[in-house]
Amino acid sequence: MHAATCPPCRESPSRRQDGLRALLSCGLAASVLLCPDSTLASATHVPPACVGVDVPQSRIEVTTRHATPVITFERSARHLRMQLAADAAVVALGMTESSTALSMEVTLNAVDGTVAGVRCARPNLYVVLTHSRLEVALASELQDNACAARAVLAHEFEHVQIEQAGLESIATELEARLERHYDEQVFAGTSEEIRRALRQEFDGIWGPLLQQLLARTTAMHAAHDRKDSRHDRTACNGDLLRLAR
Ligand SMILES: [Zn+2]
Repeated sequence: MHAATCPPCRESPSRRQDGLRALLSCGLAASVLLCPDSTLASATHVPPACVGVDVPQSRIEVTTRHATPVITFERSARHLRMQLAADAAVVALGMTESSTALSMEVTLNAVDGTVAGVRCARPNLYVVLTHSRLEVALASELQDNACAARAVLAHEFEHVQIEQAGLESIATELEARLERHYDEQVFAGTSEEIRRALRQEFDGIWGPLLQQLLARTTAMHAAHDRKDSRHDRTACNGDLLRLAR
């Protein structure tokens, strides 16, 4: 058995932006920490040296860790707009930012193959998806206006909930996909070669899949913003509208 932890060592930020022209405007930035890339290696379903070899099945587990949202009033509406790279027509009174990190521990169910020096293995994968950062930035202009701050905060917290629910559904789907993939997959080679092949699969298959799954929440954030763009113009005695302008 060989255990290795894949440290989060590469950050690939992907800032998502609402781009809405709404009374309440916001954005969401996400970044993903991925494992190191590696040299190319290949894995077939059952390599010749492992045909007829009884290799124990994989155990796959994907769990999540949520962050407690941190609320700040440090940035002005102008500053938030610049961070969102929004055009001048958009006023940002709030912004939710999150970072998602992935860590993975790999152990191998390895037995001797039919060829000398070749091990046959299936991986056990313990994956943790973590919201390492979840920050709700409210414009500093809202600090002295409890009503407007509450309204924007309520809006941003729906973005937080979308992110949190999204993390859960990503974990469920990732686990199912990993289980399906490694059900029939047997790796052959030395332990080091097998681990390298697994890292290569992570970079080639699972990293991109994770990015795709994370991107799914973008549509949900956009739908939430479209809904709130019809915000009541008389809210907070018109203060929201005034601040947004
Ligand atoms: Zn929003």
